Amino acid sequence: MNGPDLFSEARESMVFDQIMRRGIDNERVLEAFRYVPRHLFVPDESRDQAYMDHPIPIGAGQTISQPYIVALMTKCLDLTGTEKVLEIGTGSGYQTAILGQLAREVYSVELIVKLSQRANIALSTIGNKNIHLEIGDGSAGLKKYQPYDRIIITAAVPSVSQETKDQVVIGGKIVAPVGDRWRQALEVWTKQRIGFDVKKILPVVFVPMRGKYGWQD
Ligand code: SAH
Repeated sequence: MNGPDLFSEARESMVFDQIMRRGIDNERVLEAFRYVPRHLFVPDESRDQAYMDHPIPIGAGQTISQPYIVALMTKCLDLTGTEKVLEIGTGSGYQTAILGQLAREVYSVELIVKLSQRANIALSTIGNKNIHLEIGDGSAGLKKYQPYDRIIITAAVPSVSQETKDQVVIGGKIVAPVGDRWRQALEVWTKQRIGFDVKKILPVVFVPMRGKYGWQD
């Protein structure tokens, strides 16, 4: 279902103005952003804002991330198409859809039932057969299907939980916004034989992770 739609031009401009112009040039990543109809992943009343350069509320106090941030996190994951990926925080399902285009298998866990159900509807319209949605607390990862080649955390975390770190393979990566409740750094953790190599990429602001290893208030 990659035909022209009402939003094709807006989507093309988003890719050029917000993603390419800010330095992301990986052709596979850009192609995924040209393909996935972002307007299907925002609430009906926000459709006209779907391709704008900012996050948008999706209900239950959560947001769909700004397109550039989704693109940057995706780029940091370094996907070639063979990977098994875990996403913690399905939210709208938009990042999930992008991952589905670029990885072999995607598992995505979401705490809020309603959001997962809506994401499922949006995802089914683009028919990603390699995407598996789970409902539950993902702050300790998703043990059932581990290990993963990549893990992406799309809610702010005070730190990456040990359980989550244990679920990634050696040579694998975890991309996560790590910091306090209000400000975080986007970090890329690459698992070594012993420990992780950690790179800070950019200051960011994400909604807080809830659950066992998140914030309780
Ligand atoms: N990638 C998503 C981001 C959504 S915001 C998008 O662009 O749409 C982060 C999401 O993480 C929210 O939907 C929130 O409900 C979810 N979340 C928060 N704590 C969680 C937890 N412990 N387990 C699973 N999901 C969680």
